[in-house]
Formats: sequence, structure tokens, C-alpha cells
Amino acid sequence: MAEGKIIKALSGFYYVLSDGEIIQCRGRGVFRKHKITPLVGDHVVFQANSKTDGYIMEVCERKNELIRPPIANVDQAILVFSAVEPDFSPVLLDRFLVLIEAKDIQPIIVVNKMDLLDDEIRSTIETYINDYRQIGYDVIETSTVTKSGIEKLLPYLEGRISVFAGQSGVGKSSLLNALRPDLQLKTNDISTHLGRGKHTTRHVELMEVGGGLVADTPGFSALEFHDIEEEQLPLCFPEFRERSHECKFRGCTHIAEPKCAVRKALEAGEIPAYRYDHYVSFMEEIKERKPRY
Ligand code: GDP
Ligand code: ZN
Repeated sequence: MAEGKIIKALSGFYYVLSDGEIIQCRGRGVFRKHKITPLVGDHVVFQANSKTDGYIMEVCERKNELIRPPIANVDQAILVFSAVEPDFSPVLLDRFLVLIEAKDIQPIIVVNKMDLLDDEIRSTIETYINDYRQIGYDVIETSTVTKSGIEKLLPYLEGRISVFAGQSGVGKSSLLNALRPDLQLKTNDISTHLGRGKHTTRHVELMEVGGGLVADTPGFSALEFHDIEEEQLPLCFPEFRERSHECKFRGCTHIAEPKCAVRKALEAGEIPAYRYDHYVSFMEEIKERKPRY
């Protein structure tokens, strides 16, 4: 018996990467009986007579599972934003961060197209970057045109399963091409490739990039807070989470409670107002989802 990771699933076959080789496997009949569907990203135990004749015997326990794209055991999400074209959007970034924190996936923030900045926009973008670094997030500034910063991504990819996420046009395919030029992913200004076409087929493959595995389809295409509970939201903001033990009330939501350490930090300028505003609007969104009596 050997172990490996499913990097592709197609027409009833699972392609398992093990020791640098790809073995074509079928699922065992018993999976169908127990309703286990192996997913791309699954760590599996398999038995093989040849490279095209393997059987998956066991699917190891999953650390997490994404639905769109369907992929298991995602270690990190590389959140790609562009500084301009399209403009950097802190509210969209916070939305991604909440969804990722809730799934226990490590976020890495990339701010791409740094070559396009004039001095005025540069100072705005740098303020945001500092804010997010202050919270504790890793932020990497890149340009696929000048190639600056790209190599800083490599150590994050090594040995991990990553998904790239972000609006279309921010430079996800360009970044992957810069990291692994032989991929030659199509880039575009009006989003067709890596995006929609593949989403609708719900097909995903893991590619070897920088000593790790990267999904060829951008992750988190649905950005609604469907499975996030009210109590969970404050935990998805690390700078709130670390201050909440100083709030007077346990389970403080940091909205109307007296003696709230988060609001105190907000008033003292230690928490950026836009982060708090996003938190309040996300909370309203989650509450509105529930039926009111
Ligand atoms: P994706 O939709 O996120 O995969 O974005 P693409 O990689 O297709 O890039 C969208 C557009 O932005 C293309 O025209 C790229 O050439 C351009 N682009 C990507 N990265 C950069 C960058 O760092 N600087 C500049 N100036 N343009 C970039
Ligand atoms: Zn509080």
C-alpha cells in the first residue's frame, strides 16, 4: 500500500500524486456504499499494480472542505488584490478574510500591480498594507510586469495546498505564470479563462507550483456568509479576538455592550474605522438571514 494526494478527478478516475509519480486509480466499491466521494486534495491510501491500475483503499480524514471549487485539505488561500485596475477593495478583502478565518485556512494577502501606482495612490495603498500587517496578516506586494516580490510567494507555497482567490483581472493567472512559466495560463482583461468556464463544470485540478500544489480554479467564488453564525463573526477578526477577553461581558459582540475593549481600541485609533464598519455591516447581513418573529 502507498499514500498520495488526489490531484485530479475525471470520468470515474482519480489521479494520485505519490513520490513524484501520478497513478490512475479507481475508487473502491465500498466508497459508493458508504457515500464517500474522494475529492481533489484528499490524502489517500492506495494499491497499484501499474501506473494505470490503482485502487483507492482509504480516504484520510479531511482538515477542511471547500465546495466551490470542490477541494479538500486546503492549507492556505492566496488572496490576490490589485492596487489599481481594479481598485484595491478593503471591504472585499475583509469578506474573504472572514470566510477563510471561519474555515481555518491560512490567508496570505497579495497586492499586485504595484508598478501602476502614482505617489498619491501609493500612500493610500501603503496605509492599508500597514493596517493589515499590524493585524498580523502576511502581505506581499508584487508586480508581474517588473517581477518584483514574486519570489516572496515561493516559501509559502512549498509543501502546501493553496487556492488563489480574488476578483477577475487582478492578476491571478499572471502570477501563476510568473511562478511557473511553462504553465502558460491564458491571461485576459475581460475574464473568461481560469474563471467562469471551469466553475460551471465544477472541475478542479491541482498543479505543482513552487514545491506545493495549487488549484487551477480560483477559490471562494461564493462570498456570502451562509454558514457563519453571529457568535463566530467576532472570532474572524483577529484584532477583536485578541482584545475580547478585556471586554466586560463574555461573548461581547462589540456593538452595544458597555465597557467593550474593542470599541475602546477603535476610539483610541488602534483599530481602523473601516475594519469595524465592515464588521458591523457583516453582522447585520448575518442577522438578516435569520427569520424574525
Ligand atoms: P486574473 O483574472 O486574476 O487571472 O488576471 P490576469 O492574470 O488575467 O490579469 C488581468 C490583466 O492584468 C492582464 O491584462 C494582465 O496582463 C494584467 N496584469 C497582471 N498583473 C499585472 C501587474 O503586476 N502589473 C500590471 N501593470 N498589469 C498586470
Ligand atoms: Zn466587546
